Amino acid sequence: MPPGGTGRGMGGPMGGKFLTEEEKANQPKVTPALLKRVFSYLKPYSKQLILVLICIIVSSFFSLMPSIITGKILDDGLMKKDFAALIYYIVLSLIVTLLASLIGVAETYINTWIAQHITFDMRNQMYRHLQNMSQRFFTTNNQGDIITRMTSDIDGVKSVITSTFSSILSNSITLIIAMIAMFRKNWILALVGIIIVPIFTVPTRQAGKKRWSLTNESQKVNDEVNGILNETLSVSGQLLVKLFGKERYEYERYEKANRKMIGLNIKESMAGRWFRVVLTTFTSIGPMLIYLAGGILMMKYNSDLTIGDISVLVALLGRMYMPVNSLLNIQVDWIRSMALFTRIFDYFDIPVEIKNAPDAITPETVRGDVVFEHVEFSYDESKKILKDINFTLNAGKSIAIVGPSGSGKSTIVNLIPRLYDVDSGKVTFDGTDVRKIDLKFLREKVGVVSQETYLFNGTIRENLLYAKPDATEADMIEALKKANIWDFVEGQEKGLDTEVGNRGLKLSGGEKQRISIARIILKDPVIFIFDEATSALDSISEKKIQDAIDPIIKSKTSILIAHRLSTILAADEILVVKDGTIAERGSHKELLSKEGIYRELYETQFSKAIVEEDGVSELEQYVWGTQPADEPYEGE
Ligand code: ADP
Repeated sequence: MPPGGTGRGMGGPMGGKFLTEEEKANQPKVTPALLKRVFSYLKPYSKQLILVLICIIVSSFFSLMPSIITGKILDDGLMKKDFAALIYYIVLSLIVTLLASLIGVAETYINTWIAQHITFDMRNQMYRHLQNMSQRFFTTNNQGDIITRMTSDIDGVKSVITSTFSSILSNSITLIIAMIAMFRKNWILALVGIIIVPIFTVPTRQAGKKRWSLTNESQKVNDEVNGILNETLSVSGQLLVKLFGKERYEYERYEKANRKMIGLNIKESMAGRWFRVVLTTFTSIGPMLIYLAGGILMMKYNSDLTIGDISVLVALLGRMYMPVNSLLNIQVDWIRSMALFTRIFDYFDIPVEIKNAPDAITPETVRGDVVFEHVEFSYDESKKILKDINFTLNAGKSIAIVGPSGSGKSTIVNLIPRLYDVDSGKVTFDGTDVRKIDLKFLREKVGVVSQETYLFNGTIRENLLYAKPDATEADMIEALKKANIWDFVEGQEKGLDTEVGNRGLKLSGGEKQRISIARIILKDPVIFIFDEATSALDSISEKKIQDAIDPIIKSKTSILIAHRLSTILAADEILVVKDGTIAERGSHKELLSKEGIYRELYETQFSKAIVEEDGVSELEQYVWGTQPADEPYEGE
C-alpha cells in the first residue's frame, strides 16, 4: 500500500476492475441528454448535495493538514528546539485528523440519505410506471427481469451515488488541494513529484490487469474441476464409470485439470508478489527523487528550502497515489453506472400503451350494451388473431363463446375492459368507443372472472375488500352466499379471516373460483365476463360453480367463454369462434341442426366431458336437466 492514501473504496491500487468483453460490447452512449437525465434525479436534493460537497472539501483539506503540519513540527519545533511549538503542532495535527474523520461521518450520513431518497423516488416512479404498463408488457417481458429492474438495478443507483460519484469528487478535490499545497511550497519539487505519480500508476494497472485475467482463467479451470467432481462422484455417474471401467481415465482427467489449477494459482499469487515489488520500488522512488532534487536545490543553488518543506512535499506526494489510482480506475465504474442508468431509463421510456384519452368521458348512466364492429386484432405483426369480429350483446342478455383452444375467445373478451386495444374496427360500450371512455370507469363496469383465478396472499376478507373497499360484513356474506361458498367460509375456524395462502394455494380450485365469483358479485359490474376454467373440476365443485353463475348469466349482461354444455345452454346466444372469426352463431338448437363446427364440438368435446366424469349420474342429470335459458330467471 502506498503511504497514507485517501482513495475511497475503488478497489485499491490492485484495481481488479476491468470491463468484461460483454460490458465492452454493450457500453452505453453517454450523451449530454443522458447526463442531464441522471442529474435531474439529483436536483431535488441540491441543498444536501452542496452540503456533501462542503463536507468533502473540508474533510479533504483537514486530512491533508497533518502532512503540512509535519513541516512546521520539523522546522519550528524540532530544528528550533521550541518545545511549546512542538506540542502545539502535535496537538493541532491530532485535532485536524479527528475533525476530518468527524466530518467524514457527517458526509457519509448525508450521502446515504441522498442515495436512499433518490432510490426511493426512482422505485416509486418505476412502480407507478409499471402499474400503467399494458397486459402486453407483462406477457412479453420476463417477470424476473421486471423485478430485477425494480430491485437490484435501482439498488445499484445507491452505490453509484455513495461510491462512484462521491469517489470522483473526493479524490479530485484531494488531488487538487495536494497539488496546490505542493506548488505553493516549491514548484520545482512539485513538478518532480507529479511526474512520478503517473509512472507509479501504470505498472499498478498492468499488474492489476494481469492478475484479473489469471483470476478469470483459474475460475474457468475451477468450474471444470467442479464439473468433473459433480459428474463422476454422483451415484449415477459413478455407476457409469464403474460399468465402463473408466476409473483410470477419469482420474487422469481430474489430475490434469487439478494440475492446471495449481499452476494458475501459483502464477496468480506471484503476479501479486511482483506487483508489490514494483509498488514498493515506485513508492520509494518518488520521495527519493524529491529528496534528491530538494538536496540539489538546497546545496547547489542555495535555495531557501527547509527540511520541513521537503518533508511536507514527500508526505503530500504519498497522499496522491491513491486518488490518482482511483481516478484512473473510475472509468470502469463510470461506464457501469451509466449502463445501469441506461437500463433503468429504457424501462421508463416504454410508452404507456393503454391510456386514458384526453377527452375521455364518464357516462352518467349505464345500460351495458356491448358491440363489436369489424374488430381486427393481433398481438404482434406476425399473426392476425381476430378477423372481422361483429356481434352485439344487448344489456341484460348473455352470450356464450365457444370454439377450439387458441381460436381467440379470451382475446375477444380482453378487448372489452381494454386490456388490449383493437387494431381496427371498434368495441363500443353503450354506443361509445371504449377507447373514449374513462379507463377507470370502464374497468369498474366490467367484471372478469378469469380462467386462472388469482387471489392475493391474505385473508378471504381482504380479497373481497379488494373489489369493494367499503363493503360491510353483510355485503360480503351475501356475496359469498350468492357465490355458493358461504357454507365453506362459515365452516372455517376463522371464517372471513381465513388465510388463503400465497396465490390462494390453501384453497381448492373450486373454492378459489367461487371466492373470485363472490369478489365479482361484490364489485357489482354492469357486464360480467366468465372465462371458464378448462381444467376439469370434480363434479360437485362444478355444480356449485354453475349454481353460482347461473343466476348471474340469467339476470345480468354477461359473456361466457364456455367449455361445459351446461354453461352454454344457459346463454341467450352462442358464438362459435374458429381461427379468429365467428364461424357460426345462434341458439343451441339452431346450431346443432346446422351440422357444422358447433355440432362437431358438441359431439367431441361436450359429450366427452360427460362420459369422462365418473360421477356420471349427478353431472349428467345436471347437464341434461338444465333447459336452454328460455325460462325466466327469478333469482334476483
Ligand atoms: P382461446 O381463448 O380461444 O383459447 P386466445 O384468445 O387465448 O384463445 O388466443 C388466441 C391466439 O392468440 C392463440 O394463438 C394464442 O397463442 C395467441 N395469444 C394469446 N395471448 C397472447 C399474447 N399475450 N401474446 C401473443 N399471442 C397470444
